[in-house]
Amino acid sequence: MHLVSALPPLRDVIARHGLAASKALGQNFLLDEQLLDRIARIPGDLTGETAYEVGPGPGGLTRALLRAGANVVAVERDRRCIPALAELDAWQPGQLRVIEDDALKIDEAREVPGAHVVANLPYNVGTALLVRWLATTDWRPWWKSLTLMFQKEVAERVVARPDTSAYGRLAVLSQWRSSARLAMNVHRSAFTPPPKVMSAVVHIEPGEAPAGVAIGTIERLTAAAFGQRRKMLRQSLKAVPGAPAAMEAVGIDPTRRAETLTIEDFVSLARAMDAV
Ligand code: SAM
Repeated sequence: MHLVSALPPLRDVIARHGLAASKALGQNFLLDEQLLDRIARIPGDLTGETAYEVGPGPGGLTRALLRAGANVVAVERDRRCIPALAELDAWQPGQLRVIEDDALKIDEAREVPGAHVVANLPYNVGTALLVRWLATTDWRPWWKSLTLMFQKEVAERVVARPDTSAYGRLAVLSQWRSSARLAMNVHRSAFTPPPKVMSAVVHIEPGEAPAGVAIGTIERLTAAAFGQRRKMLRQSLKAVPGAPAAMEAVGIDPTRRAETLTIEDFVSLARAMDAV
């Protein structure tokens, strides 16, 4: 029998270490091992791979990643969780490294190069990290894939297609040089305590970056276009240097609105702006 399966139930770990869920830290724990194993399978075969887990809490997902054969590096800012996680290291020696810190302060390229990122994080931290991981100047990034739990509404914005209300900056940022899919819906009742809204896991893999386009240009363009999403592009992009000429050069009708532009349209516009 695999050692990890002989661990005490997570509920006992939570009780023994006094891990009452902290609202301030956005703590909603997953305790269902089958569900956690399904999440750990989303990145594919993790045998011998590095998994970077952000916010392990009492360690349910950490256990699933260890069961999947990954070497896990986990960063957790709640000090109370560290002794509970140390018990996992004792059961599965040498496969887990725990860093007590704020994930927003980690230099991932140094700490976890080539890792598959797996996280069930509070909404605001998750979105901030996603944007940071997607908006790097260098591409290919340090991560091999991102498997992230979000509020369902945020997950829908990541994978959104044009001509939908969910389509915006997050969709363009997530899809212009990566593929993003909604991997799993997770009912609110799966969490302890249950959050107010439903959740979903998105899976992102890096792709080829289109040539001749800088991330800064994509960011400026989408910030302006979706900042005034009800306005015509003629209006919303008029103050973005090079954008009006680029619309003309690539033949994008300036009376259109941002949400009608495909990802390829945004890439063409940015390329025309960067070519000047
Ligand atoms: N992964 C566990 C699970 O699925 O049961 C816990 C999930 S809980 C939603 C979020 C976890 O992220 C908590 O353990 C919390 O302490 C941790 N956390 C919150 N903000 C963090 C940050 N900035 N850096 C690292 N961990 C953080």
